Amino acid sequence: MDKKVMEKLSYGLFVCTAKEGNKDNGCIINTAIQVTNTPNRVAVAINKSNFTHDMVVKTKVMNVCVISKKADFDMFKHFGFQSGKDVDKFNVASSQWMKENINNCKRAENGLMYIAAGTNSYISLAVQDMIDLDSHTLFICAVTDGAIIDDSPSATYQFYHQNIKTQAEKIGTTPEGKTIWKCKICGYVYEGEDLPEDFICPWCKHPASDFEKVSVTA
Ligand code: FE
Repeated sequence: MDKKVMEKLSYGLFVCTAKEGNKDNGCIINTAIQVTNTPNRVAVAINKSNFTHDMVVKTKVMNVCVISKKADFDMFKHFGFQSGKDVDKFNVASSQWMKENINNCKRAENGLMYIAAGTNSYISLAVQDMIDLDSHTLFICAVTDGAIIDDSPSATYQFYHQNIKTQAEKIGTTPEGKTIWKCKICGYVYEGEDLPEDFICPWCKHPASDFEKVSVTA
């Protein structure tokens, strides 16, 4: 089988937010789809390694903010390449992006945050069912609320790779005369001749199979 066939499926991109006690958090996902319309239901898959995952399991509530083509790479870095285990993502000190966008983070009627910059809408969800899919949990959710933020077109995963991620290429400086492995998803650079098979990208949590070998000659 050609593994690239999986890249031909189309996906959106979303900031998924949750709240447990006083802790707000959010992560980037590409797996939210409407699965029924009478009533409206949305299926959301979240990687178990995301802090947001455990919060949703416990609280059964989330907001899915639809990322638009106006989103910048710094927003992906902020929500996607650091963990709520280590940082309070809704604190202004957590990144330059949050410092500039704290006023674009607002509370929806369900008490959870939604992001009003680099997004065009959000949907509030209440979990009805959870299906264990090993690395991920699939949440089947009722739609409880939602609002349009602006009319900018939604970003697809392909658009991210072709337009937004290009900003990431500047992040990794490639030392001369070395073999490096570059994450195809986020641009993270691993130095070394061999990449361990069980390596997980520290920024985007994708596996070793999403890395490509790059040889840099002096
Ligand atoms: Fe990565």
